[in-house]
Amino acid sequence: MNEKDIIRKYFTKNLDDQAVINGIGDDAAIVSPKRGNQLVVTTDTMVEGKHFSNTAPAYGVGYTLMASNLSDIAAMGATPRWATLNLTLNIVDESWLEGFSNGLLECAQAHNVALIGGDTTCGQCLNVSVQLIAEVLINKAMLRSNAQASDNIFVTGVIGNAASALHYLQQNNFNHEKLSTAQNTALYKPPSRIDYAIELAEIANAAIDISDGLLNELELICKASNVGATLQLDNLPYNHDIDIQHAITGGEDYELLFTIPNEFIKQAHVLADKHQCLITNIGKITNTKTVELYHANKLMPYPKSSGYDHFQNNQ
Ligand code: ADP
Ligand code: MG
Repeated sequence: MNEKDIIRKYFTKNLDDQAVINGIGDDAAIVSPKRGNQLVVTTDTMVEGKHFSNTAPAYGVGYTLMASNLSDIAAMGATPRWATLNLTLNIVDESWLEGFSNGLLECAQAHNVALIGGDTTCGQCLNVSVQLIAEVLINKAMLRSNAQASDNIFVTGVIGNAASALHYLQQNNFNHEKLSTAQNTALYKPPSRIDYAIELAEIANAAIDISDGLLNELELICKASNVGATLQLDNLPYNHDIDIQHAITGGEDYELLFTIPNEFIKQAHVLADKHQCLITNIGKITNTKTVELYHANKLMPYPKSSGYDHFQNNQ
């Protein structure tokens, strides 16, 4: 099977999108953005042996690759529109390609994203990368740098499900057959907060998606906004199969952390109900430059590492 056959067979079953003037098949794609919008662009790469094991389900790898990009777009409060896909294959395994493309395109179509191009090459190690382009009304995006002292800090969903499932896999020799349905979902069908986030952008000050650990993401918001934070972790919904320190530093939740002034808390809950999204108030932005954690009415020891870093966690 050659490169052209792979693209035609697996990556052209696509969404019909009037805004795609030129899709897959020419030298480059052409799209028409909506008037009055800015383009928001992100990309995420997954490498076999690093982000997923060779026993991982292909469908889940494809789904998660698209979902991880969608999560970045949600954190900006933008509407996802078009994607490109870069594939480096070590072998042409048709059953893998079938599962991978189904997962990727199903996740894309569920969010009205059209695949408009990409590149397909071979190499020593399986490597998959998506670039996602989104739209947002001019100056409406939620930025990491916009948190204000006295904002409330909220998280969506339950934290630590993916970290807990990954921990279980590591203890079980990456045998995916042992995973429960909930563990499989946590690792390979992460939540989407896009619809909630688009409306949240009207009222939230800052937002970030939780891909490398809740605490790590909070530190990034604090650094970018030049503020500090106090977290009250008693109310945090987290996966109790792992301890709270692990839950707030483990990766791949793909939930949102956002900050919001008091006056908009009620509206944030109304929108959350509308989109069936659990949200929890877990603390306050402060005008110190430090992050403090409280649990069971006590100052909690600060974890040695606040999250996942590809280079530091490489050994
Ligand atoms: P070129 O050699 O001109 O770069 P390619 O043969 O790489 O063209 O690609 C042909 C068409 O297929 C282009 O429209 C490209 O964007 C698209 N394409 C290539 N690989 C993929 C892929 N993995 N998924 C989606 N579209 C792809
Ligand atoms: Mg090319």
